[in-house]
Amino acid sequence: MAELRFSALRELFNREPVINEPPSKNISKYFGMNVFDLHKMEHYLSKEAYNVVKHAIEEGKSLTRDEANQVAIGLKAWALEKGATHFTHWFHPLTDGTAEKHDGFIEIGDKGHLVENFSGEVLVQSEPDASSFPSGGIRNTFEARGYTAWDVSSPVFIVGTTLCIPTIFVSYTGEALDYKAPLLKALSALDRAAVEVCQYFDKDVKKVYSTLGIEQEYFLIDEALYYARPDIMLADRTLMGHQSSKDQQLADHYFGSIPERVMCFIKDFETEAYKLGIPVKTRHNEVAPNQFECAPIYEEVNLAVDHNQLLMDIMKRIARKHKFRVLFHEKPFAGINGSGKHNNWSLATNTGVNLLSPGRNPKSNLQFLTFLVNVIKAVNDSNELIRASVMNESNSYRLGGHEAPPAIISVFLGDYLTNMLEEIVSKVPEKKMTPAQKTELKLGIGKIPEILLDNTDRNRTSPFAFTGNRFEFRAVGSSANCSASMIVLNTALAYQLTKFRNEVEQIIKKGRNKDEAIFQVLKKYIINCQGVLFEGDNYSKEWHKEAAKRGLCNIASVPESIKCYLSEDSKKVLIGSGIFTGKELEGRVEVEYEKFTKKVQIEARVLGDLAINHIVPTCIRYMTSLIENVKGLKEVFNESEYENLAGSHKEMIVTISERINMIKTLVGKMIDERRKANVIEDSFSKAIAYEKNVKPYLDQIRVHIDKLELIVDNEIWPLPKYRELLFTR
Ligand code: ADP
Ligand code: MG
Repeated sequence: MAELRFSALRELFNREPVINEPPSKNISKYFGMNVFDLHKMEHYLSKEAYNVVKHAIEEGKSLTRDEANQVAIGLKAWALEKGATHFTHWFHPLTDGTAEKHDGFIEIGDKGHLVENFSGEVLVQSEPDASSFPSGGIRNTFEARGYTAWDVSSPVFIVGTTLCIPTIFVSYTGEALDYKAPLLKALSALDRAAVEVCQYFDKDVKKVYSTLGIEQEYFLIDEALYYARPDIMLADRTLMGHQSSKDQQLADHYFGSIPERVMCFIKDFETEAYKLGIPVKTRHNEVAPNQFECAPIYEEVNLAVDHNQLLMDIMKRIARKHKFRVLFHEKPFAGINGSGKHNNWSLATNTGVNLLSPGRNPKSNLQFLTFLVNVIKAVNDSNELIRASVMNESNSYRLGGHEAPPAIISVFLGDYLTNMLEEIVSKVPEKKMTPAQKTELKLGIGKIPEILLDNTDRNRTSPFAFTGNRFEFRAVGSSANCSASMIVLNTALAYQLTKFRNEVEQIIKKGRNKDEAIFQVLKKYIINCQGVLFEGDNYSKEWHKEAAKRGLCNIASVPESIKCYLSEDSKKVLIGSGIFTGKELEGRVEVEYEKFTKKVQIEARVLGDLAINHIVPTCIRYMTSLIENVKGLKEVFNESEYENLAGSHKEMIVTISERINMIKTLVGKMIDERRKANVIEDSFSKAIAYEKNVKPYLDQIRVHIDKLELIVDNEIWPLPKYRELLFTR
């Protein structure tokens, strides 16, 4: 049984870096070559069609059939020139992956011969069978069909020979079945609310975009070892494995020189990313052995999310060419760092201003503080909801570990801004402000340095940290589709900004001037939000106690956390802002419960199989050889010599035997619990049963296996060990 493990290790000796040359040494020469961007549209479309698309992108509108037909003509010409033979609507179902169904351009022409055709009709809309995608019950009550519709704000691109059209995916009756449709709604709600608030400061602001820079962490393991670990293949993580004697203790991997074979892989996937217009910029070794990070330059949220989904796809594909497998799971290995996907998030205006960056004068700084404080207020008020947006089965293994942000969402600001907010609280009076008071306050605000980056001593332990010109939301998991967190954050802020505007207007109506009204409301918010502001060490035990005192949400259960999507407050935000209907929200939560249950179920099955079919037989084999050995000792030595020599062997036989019995008993109990849980109808109760009654066995069984790994002859151990998975490349 150990044959697979050893042949995998032997294969590694023959691995060579695979070197592929990019189309040009100059990235700018081929950046975006496989994207039908505005530049190419200008070339391939009629002037009329070009203007229509450009307008639709700017306004967030969709195209009519006629307009689409016009665009399709140019798009087809470009695609055929690039050698595309098929097209697909590319969308984000609720599976965390992307979906595509390819159709050829070919059609049978009038005279029975083959023609290559592509009409506007198929560009804007398609009707894939929705019945196999998760919908949380929405599709049961309605038609099984769904349809996809082009999201013009994300450009069409070519992968291989397939033209990919980014689309939203909705049920036949209009309910969203994907991540993109609600994300677009959230972004447009934020745009509307933020523009209204910007009007207090700058009448030229007509559009506010949310921006996102996604840091993607991942692990690499060799393909041969991957195939020798059924748990990684089926559950994306190791369900057993004793810690390696050395892993990340010496911090010698972080920012270390990138191993050559890995470097070739990175360069290769970056090349593919550039061709698709994904501006990947940063690469480095991460803390854990064989862990790396890749970060593109930030983009508008919808595009950044599409690009991240595409990037993960590219990475998986290119990894195979290099005989690697990419692990996006949040915690593929116990005991060492897991992987996250930091969401660097900010707001930008059509006038080129970053609303979360201090400006040059008191007025722009008041605008900055307004947005800063409103973000804090949104995170304070929608704390549970924001937490729910990142909570799932795989991320639950990472959150709250020694290396990852806790599952308590607090905000870090840094000394400078903390003091600034305190100043507002102490200097804004309840009564009407005197001109002197106003001047003093404005002077203070005017002094905020334009570059806060250096002043923001970075608190790496905070799940939601201000980092000088943006917030970094670090609780998002590495395998996630960032739409989930972005829908919630942007909607929570939109909802908050609308409330803010109303409150300011109320005070203005009472005869105060605008700035004073803004100061009044900000002061109130800052006082209200003290509970969510935390500058200390988020990994410490004290913080957990303190956070509980402050009433911050820290529910350990994943299904219970997900349930927070359905609280009255959450509904007010998400349904109230028109992002989801009640039915859509309930459907989504159903999907999350089901995903949780299924993932635990898969892990439990895989672990059960491996324990009984791989580990137990191996241990019995080793135990038998020990028994033979003891028998031999008895033959060769006299009674007292034998007693002396065989003692430790017998002890080992007993230990192994006891552990084998424990494993068998625990696997049996785990199967019983699964059986009981499987008949539960209600998906929430079922998820809870899986979490409370099935999941604990995963760790309990693992303990025995990991101990056995230390005792049993290395020559026959069937699965690649941590030291092999993590240190061979
Ligand atoms: P860190 O030091 O946090 O690891 P990185 O350089 O790895 O930083 O990543 C920072 C990310 O933040 C990049 O993707 C960068 O483009 C992004 N970023 C910078 N400014 C903004 C902004 N205004 N809005 C959104 N993201 C931003
Ligand atoms: Mg970062």
